[in-house]
Amino acid sequence: MIDEKVKIKCTKCSQVFRERAQKIRDGFQTNCQHCNRLITFDTSSEDRNIRRALMSAKEVRMALEARPKNESVAQGSVASEANSGFSLLKRDWP
Ligand SMILES: [Zn+2]
Repeated sequence: MIDEKVKIKCTKCSQVFRERAQKIRDGFQTNCQHCNRLITFDTSSEDRNIRRALMSAKEVRMALEARPKNESVAQGSVASEANSGFSLLKRDWP
């Protein structure tokens, strides 16, 4: 079983919280669950905690994508459905 959540260390309060790897990508923003500081995920950030979380998230997403399709359906992964062209089909509707 792949753990699809990534640990993020807040630079302000030094506490660790977890966020879904599918959400953590360049430009994503979230609030620290401990001190409510707004954290912006930027691959060019000087904050190594942020760069580390982005790298971990990328690894998790690659592991999830490498997983057999039927397994991801069983997990009810909305993200993989959106990436498989489902949203493109929807766009053609009147
Ligand atoms: Zn914090």
